[in-house]
Amino acid sequence: MSVPLLDVNAQNLPLEDEMTAAFQRVFRSGRFIMGPDILELERETGEMLGVGHCVAVSSGTDALLLALMALNIGPGDEVLCPAFTFFATAGAVHRVGATPVFVDVCPVCFNMDPHDAASKITPRTKALMPVHLFGQSADMDAILTLAHEHDLKVIEDAAQAIGAGYKGRACGTIGDFGAYSFFPSKNLGGLGDGGMLVTQDEALAARARSLRNHGMEPKYYHQAVGGNFRMDTLQAAFLRVKLPHYADYTRQRQENAADYTARLTQLTGVVEADPSHCRCIEYQNSWLDARMARLVLPVAYPHNAHIWNQYTIRVLGEGCRDALRDHLTSRQIGCEIYYPLTLDQQECFSQLPSSARQGCEVAHRMAREVLSIPIYGELTSEQRGEVVSAIAEFLVR
Ligand SMILES: *Cc1c(COP(=O)(O)O)cnc(C)c1O
Repeated sequence: MSVPLLDVNAQNLPLEDEMTAAFQRVFRSGRFIMGPDILELERETGEMLGVGHCVAVSSGTDALLLALMALNIGPGDEVLCPAFTFFATAGAVHRVGATPVFVDVCPVCFNMDPHDAASKITPRTKALMPVHLFGQSADMDAILTLAHEHDLKVIEDAAQAIGAGYKGRACGTIGDFGAYSFFPSKNLGGLGDGGMLVTQDEALAARARSLRNHGMEPKYYHQAVGGNFRMDTLQAAFLRVKLPHYADYTRQRQENAADYTARLTQLTGVVEADPSHCRCIEYQNSWLDARMARLVLPVAYPHNAHIWNQYTIRVLGEGCRDALRDHLTSRQIGCEIYYPLTLDQQECFSQLPSSARQGCEVAHRMAREVLSIPIYGELTSEQRGEVVSAIAEFLVR
């Protein structure tokens, strides 16, 4: 039995009738740009997340770009972002002319290490851009404290974390701006590209709304140079079909993750990461050595509501991650390396000053060790068993 990394049809096909009706409604309205479906999606998303202002946009990437533009971040400014994330986080910073400065990550939750961030703040630093990677919140208390002390803006890249929680608050609603993505492989996946920018600040929301549409207010009078960052009306209509099911989708992923952890911890050489010593890599290493760990399972911190966009394991030992990947592939089990290269190692950033690209050793190690296995909600118990037995087979080889 093959197990795909993701099966979008398993989630979408049961909604075919509702999706078709949504298409027909927009199609017959003849109104494909903005309109009531956009406003309703913004209202419904705001209600779900408990945030005052939502701005529907063309992608998660554009949500990040729009946030930076609305905050007037540009040439001469520095923005701290984690070295271990999807490219878009730093790409958006570079596109507004600012310099991304890469911060090392925590080996337990994979997120921005606030201590390393603190050491990289300069008089040019304007913002912190934590990412809630794989669906788990970054250490927002520490990040907000830094922002407060140094008068920095906070833009949360919550592309992988819509509905995730931090101490009872929704990830993405804690900083000045939060950016979500509806890319099909995200937890709330649309039928194409889409994103949402959110904020609690009314003035920032108004500015983002205006920049979403070329800074045009009123028609053909331009207050500022924005862009076309609008979400298609059809996409909003499709997403509104999925929104009422979203809590169920999240619960399924959480159950899958708990089941993996229960089954995998039975295997010799498999341990759960130790959340009690988050950032201390030396401690982590000796702790793992003492247990003769070969494979480290992801954990959620007790104060985090993890939504498991990915279930990402660490495979210890030189070459072992690639060997497990090859083994799973040969058993027709989908898996992926998110991400094989850290951002400070990317060719396109090789011209950045070396001060922007230093001290990301934990991130480098994560890039060598991580492997994500299938975690999508519709995965059956039998399929999860297949994944676990393939891993067990690898460990006794
Ligand atoms: C997916 C993703 C983005 C970009 O979202 P798109 O909708 O694909 O543009 C940004 N940051 C992170 C961390 C992501 O995973």
